[in-house]
Amino acid sequence: MTESSLTQKLSEIPDTALDHDVSLADLTTLRLGGRPRFTVRCATTAAAVEAIRVLDRAGQGILVVGGGSNLVVAEGDLDLVVVLLENDGVSYGQDGLIEAEAGAVWDDVVAGSVERGLGGLECLSGIPGSAGATPVQNVGAYGAEVAETLTEVLLLDRTDGSVSWAPASSLELAYRYSNLKFTGRAVVLALRMQLSTDGLSTPLRFGQLAGEAGQRRPVAQVREEVLALRRGKGMVLDDADHDTWSAGSFFTNPVVDPAVADEVQSRVRETRGAEDAERMPRWPADGGDKLSAAWLIERAGFPRGYPDEGARARLSTKHTLALTNRGSAVTGDLVALAREVRDGVRAEFGVTLVPEPVWIGVSIDA
Ligand SMILES: Cc1cc2nc3c(=O)[nH]c(=O)nc-3n(C[C@H](O)[C@H](O)[C@H](O)COP(=O)(O)OP(=O)(O)OC[C@H]3O[C@@H](n4cnc5c(N)ncnc54)[C@H](O)[C@@H]3O)c2cc1C
Repeated sequence: MTESSLTQKLSEIPDTALDHDVSLADLTTLRLGGRPRFTVRCATTAAAVEAIRVLDRAGQGILVVGGGSNLVVAEGDLDLVVVLLENDGVSYGQDGLIEAEAGAVWDDVVAGSVERGLGGLECLSGIPGSAGATPVQNVGAYGAEVAETLTEVLLLDRTDGSVSWAPASSLELAYRYSNLKFTGRAVVLALRMQLSTDGLSTPLRFGQLAGEAGQRRPVAQVREEVLALRRGKGMVLDDADHDTWSAGSFFTNPVVDPAVADEVQSRVRETRGAEDAERMPRWPADGGDKLSAAWLIERAGFPRGYPDEGARARLSTKHTLALTNRGSAVTGDLVALAREVRDGVRAEFGVTLVPEPVWIGVSIDA
């Protein structure tokens, strides 16, 4: 199908609008990335379903974008059509059931739940992006994950164009993973979450939050505390603060064999002394030991703000795990920094860090 017949077909769908002059730099929190063929904005779920069906039938590659906060995109002309989900209805039931359309701003959904005294999402306060993207990498923070409240997702299956509610278990949710991530096999159109209704948070598991482990506290207090902690780390979006021009945590925390964790700890003991080695974050998870990527990055010689003030891409000055665009970076600058950090950690500790965001048209492997 020619581009003009495709755009003609798409523009006939009610509640869609086409943009020809939007780049991925305008749509991503890293503010990096080139130009798609064009962008389709979908104001309703029906519009999104119809537009994606038309594009898939035409064999046109698409990139579904919510808040663009987990994307690293190549520069230049990109042979893809961006589908922007702007369906943003949210309903809160008396019984603690929340239904949110994919384009709803995630933190608005969380704020709405906290205002109603519903518990379960408060630790996920301040995570940028859309509700629909939260199952894609099973977003998590401060000891909580969306998997704990998510019950069902409304999926558009891109293999046959069908739309149906699927149980959360069908997504194989795990640490920063679902079977939607990197595959694009289906688009999340809406989601349902079951929250608690007694005004208290989920049992707290993260040491930096006040209170005993396992304690439940008023949801509004926990939200405020989480937001304050996140702001201190540059993990709440702020246009004026380049430390937040990022994709959040750039690498996942590596899960390694306990013997490898022992070796890492010995290496730290050798180079930095016993005291530092004893403090190494290390906890059992997913059949191995999970290590802190941020801690390893720092000990491999990459302090906050690395490499220096003049760099176009540098580590956040507030958190070593965020790679940031200081305003004039291009994707190549960020990718070079990502490679340098990954290679440096591998050379020092023998552990290969894996990026958390989704990469489009570019790869960390040269
Ligand atoms: C400052 C900052 C802090 C962050 N903190 C956290 C954190 O604490 N925890 C955490 O887990 N993440 C965090 N992130 C990462 C990011 O915010 C989350 O992954 C978020 O869920 C991405 O949502 P989005 O709408 O921006 O997705 P996008 O970046 O637009 O898309 C990401 C991927 O999901 C796909 N996608 C988007 N919407 C849909 C949909 N409806 N259906 C199917 N696929 C879809 C896209 O095609 C793409 O592959 C942070 C990011 C930033 C910038």
